[in-house]
Amino acid sequence: MHEPADTPIGMTTAVHAGRGDLRALGVHALPIDLSTTYPVVDAAQAAGELELLADGGPCTGNPLYGRLHNPTVARFESAVAELESAGSAVAFATGMAALTAVLLALEPDRRHVIAVRPLYGTSDHLLAGGLLDIEVSWTGADGVEAALRPDTGLVIIESPQNPTIGLVDIRAVTGAAGDVPVLVDNTFATPVLQRPLDLGARLSLHSATKFMGGHGDAMGGVVACDDAWARRLRRVRVVTGALLHPLGAYHLHRGLPTLPLRIAAMQEGARVLARRLASHPGVARVHHPEQPGADPAGLLGTQMSGPGTMLAIDLAGGEDAACHLLRRVQVFTHAVSLGSTDSLIQHPASLTHRVMPECDRSACGIGPGLVRISVGLEHPDDLWRDLEQGLHGETGLRAASSPPRAAAHRADPASRTAST
Ligand SMILES: *Cc1c(COP(=O)(O)O)cnc(C)c1O
Repeated sequence: MHEPADTPIGMTTAVHAGRGDLRALGVHALPIDLSTTYPVVDAAQAAGELELLADGGPCTGNPLYGRLHNPTVARFESAVAELESAGSAVAFATGMAALTAVLLALEPDRRHVIAVRPLYGTSDHLLAGGLLDIEVSWTGADGVEAALRPDTGLVIIESPQNPTIGLVDIRAVTGAAGDVPVLVDNTFATPVLQRPLDLGARLSLHSATKFMGGHGDAMGGVVACDDAWARRLRRVRVVTGALLHPLGAYHLHRGLPTLPLRIAAMQEGARVLARRLASHPGVARVHHPEQPGADPAGLLGTQMSGPGTMLAIDLAGGEDAACHLLRRVQVFTHAVSLGSTDSLIQHPASLTHRVMPECDRSACGIGPGLVRISVGLEHPDDLWRDLEQGLHGETGLRAASSPPRAAAHRADPASRTAST
């Protein structure tokens, strides 16, 4: 559909995706089908349909059973596929269920995975933890080609990366990977800012829990891909049952029409905060794609149409300063997750990336003073005032000059989070 040039990408598509048949159905809101089973009309026909669905095929008639197919979920999937310019999309209970399904879908003789750090903490944990029958090589973005083996079945990257907001050159990675499929975790960018399949990736994965739902009240995961991969993923979903509930699909789909507007407004807020934080004496470094030197490959405006809504800061005062800030914020909520209407702030070393070994954390830039910020829809001036009062007294000299305090927090950074 026609998109006015000065509006965020996909506004019209986001409003109408997955709703093309509503007028013919005589309804205006998204219909919800909560059936767990469906009446069989003809036994022989049902047997054929069952075989097709169990093999990951599309639903051609009777969905038969809620674990095989759900029309409300399929509607959300078709909307995501349209936004990602993908042939298909397959939705799951969570982003982690989606990633697990991709890994389970790898061929038995192609179970070596190349992963570029940093990734979302639990993705890292799933890959490193040995739960699934895969072998992982960790590498930097420029080490993919050297890490390839005959049994490599997948390359996994994230851009922007969590939590350091670094950009990875998707085209360079897909070029280096050759025939090996590349999965891009596109959660932070959303299809509004970045479409990995157009850049050569085979799979674009989202934690729909974040921006797609956008209101912090529904969990889900979705993989946009071609029809062949969709079939493999549905085959896994049928036997493992990691389904997105139709009510979840409804909520996630309802979030899509406002996705471009939310991203545009939050992105402006993130820009304002990044600029102001960069000149605060307590902030040693701002991680935001528009900071000087943050985008040496020139990916802004080409790979990704804007810098996004996420930022991170390294506090000169280290972990003590981070704890101080998190205790004082009032407009921000100290919580994990991101992409909600309200602003969230958290300390990756204590929470989202705590599961990584410390040496791996520091090797990919997740230091003790790093704080990750998900900018919401509040007025940027209010967010700035909140951060400013939280950083009050942080001069960058504090770490060296102040006596060690909050020792208990240092010993167990997670302990303080129980009370907030
Ligand atoms: C949250 C998140 C995930 C995991 O998604 P869940 O819905 O929490 O399972 C994966 N990748 C990224 C980048 C995330 O932010």
